[in-house]
Amino acid sequence: MTVQEKYQHLEETIRAYNPNANFEQIRAAFVYADNAHNGQLRKDGSPFVTHPLAVAQILAEELHLDSESIEAALLHDTIEDTAATHEDVARLFSPTVADLVEGVSKLTRVQFSSKAQEQMENLRKMLMAMSKDIRVILIKVADRLHNMRTMEYQTPAKQKQKSLETMEIYAPIAHRLGMQKIKWELEDLSLKYIDPIGYRDIIDSLNEKAAEYDGFMATIHNQITQRLKEAGIHGVVYGRMKHPYSIYRKMYTQDKNLDDVFDLFAFRVIVDTMADCYNVLGVIHDLYKPILGRFKDYIGTPKPNGYQSLHTTVMGQNGIPFEVQIRTGEMHEVAEYGIAAHWKYKQNGQGSGDESSYEWVRRLLENQEGSDAEDFIHSLKVDMFADEVFVFTPQGDIINLPNGATPIDFAYNIHSAVGNHMVAAKVNGRIVQYDYHLKNGDIVEVVTSKNAHGPSRDWIKIARSSNARSKIRQWFKREKRDENIANGRLSFEAELKRTGVSLKELTNEENLPAVLKRVAYGNLDDMYAAIGYGGVSSQKLVGRLREEIASITQKHQADSQATVPVEGQPEVSRPAVPARSHGEQGIIVEGLNNCLVKFSKCCSPVPGDEVIGFITRGYGVSVHRTDCPNAAPERRRGEEADRWIKVSWADKIRDDYRTTLEVVAKDRINLIVDISTVLSSTKTRVMSLNARSTHDGFALITVEVEVSGGEQLQTVMQRLNQISGTMRVTRPAG
Ligand code: MN
Repeated sequence: MTVQEKYQHLEETIRAYNPNANFEQIRAAFVYADNAHNGQLRKDGSPFVTHPLAVAQILAEELHLDSESIEAALLHDTIEDTAATHEDVARLFSPTVADLVEGVSKLTRVQFSSKAQEQMENLRKMLMAMSKDIRVILIKVADRLHNMRTMEYQTPAKQKQKSLETMEIYAPIAHRLGMQKIKWELEDLSLKYIDPIGYRDIIDSLNEKAAEYDGFMATIHNQITQRLKEAGIHGVVYGRMKHPYSIYRKMYTQDKNLDDVFDLFAFRVIVDTMADCYNVLGVIHDLYKPILGRFKDYIGTPKPNGYQSLHTTVMGQNGIPFEVQIRTGEMHEVAEYGIAAHWKYKQNGQGSGDESSYEWVRRLLENQEGSDAEDFIHSLKVDMFADEVFVFTPQGDIINLPNGATPIDFAYNIHSAVGNHMVAAKVNGRIVQYDYHLKNGDIVEVVTSKNAHGPSRDWIKIARSSNARSKIRQWFKREKRDENIANGRLSFEAELKRTGVSLKELTNEENLPAVLKRVAYGNLDDMYAAIGYGGVSSQKLVGRLREEIASITQKHQADSQATVPVEGQPEVSRPAVPARSHGEQGIIVEGLNNCLVKFSKCCSPVPGDEVIGFITRGYGVSVHRTDCPNAAPERRRGEEADRWIKVSWADKIRDDYRTTLEVVAKDRINLIVDISTVLSSTKTRVMSLNARSTHDGFALITVEVEVSGGEQLQTVMQRLNQISGTMRVTRPAG
């Protein structure tokens, strides 16, 4: 057939069921598609336009669709594959036709990258949901059917991929829409490529036994026809073999060979009235022995997709079982063609298929309003207009969210960490507001940052999913917990300091279990959080830990005694020094245990410095650097000579010695910035910083810092010296 002949055939097919179709527009669509695809060839070498023509033919022949659907079918690849635009099609044909074509193109663009089983149902739902107009999915299914029919020209890899997709997505959709005939064909064609050997086996066996089977079927056919005549029932009998995929499934799931497959044969009796269905059932059961438990009344209880029929399985000659389906002509149309046939009857009862017929389907789908056909449409409606929206991750996974969902819902659906770190959201490559309502098929991308501030309280109002809302609430609770822990820890540490025991020591590996047991908290964070919440005071907790603190203090005394040098003056000759309950100052005072030690402000010594102690009146030992003017040798000789005492750094030192640095540098922009960069990069805590310019273009910067000891101090001073313009870095004393 030439392209023109094919088109003529299409027109004739349409005319047979819809003489009032808009043939002028249909022809225009054909001519437009022919031009638009001019030069493009299919894999088999035929002009591309034969494909849309074949799709239109399927829709006309199998589903008796309206003019707009036929036009859209003819144009279905123009927006995707040619220069044609939505506006072009809308202008030349109609906005509805353009929407249908656009809808089909959208479905074509959906990537089936994910093969996870749980994604399949989502994919099917999404395709349905994306096809706001049911005709979009009908055209898409016909498109796939024709592509499957001509799949032999594709590469083996593509054959397999498309076949799997068809089996998993399109055949179930056809089934759901009640299009049995198309479903069977899709399944058989898919099987041919998914399991070529299994498929061939079945076809070969069926061919081999064709004569035998034909004889059996003819006999049964005649018997039933004869008996109906005798009973005065008007009915037509059809016999058929089960389709290959259905046999295949039975053979494999029940592990049987072809001969053992229970119902290889199916007969169908089409009658005029529902009453006759039950009359025929009586006739069949009278003629053959029914198999128990195999009778099903889908007339009384239709299947969700609207299917109605009586099913029974009976035993024929030689014990060969076969199934008989009994239904009216109308039920049969619905069974074969699904939704397309259904409206035709419901609309006007005569199957004229006029142009307004689809309004019925559309209205029913759009409004949830009652109708006598509502039961039929129910499952479909649930699928298509449920409160769900289906969107893609950039990787092609489908995320199913409640209708009206926003990027916030999407982000928290991926992971709470993604939501908590979201700083922006993109939909189809563009930044959107957080309250953007996601649409079916949107590709959503969440931009995250480590430095994100976390969700804002507004997000709880914007999010549509309870999942996202609860995760955001959790974040606030936990975030507050962090705050509480921090505050609680500070308070506890300050309270503990009064006892002279460090937090570090109290909570070291050795002491922690006893401590936690005493305070009755599972871990320290819980304890700090409780203090932070105000659930318990740190005074109270420190009080509870009296014994543990006392034992640590005792240990300190034992340690210091062990390090006291053997030689030296006896303690008694020393001026009295107030005892202190702990000695963790990092300084060993010769001959004295646990005396109060303070580091003099004039020279602020740090570990590593050469130091000497001065026994003050009432304030313990004051530690000076030996190069401090206040500890100058001449001073040590005066009348207070016996107050000077040898001190040394202990092995175990604290980590927070304060000292002061003085930097003299050429004054310039960013000098302070550079200095603070050095301080922060050496992890030096700054207690105070004072800078002033001198009149001759220099700057004098005094920084009070906290360091762990001489080593860190050396590094800091070295790094400060390297700053451009630095003249000198010193530690002032005196
Ligand atoms: Mn196509």
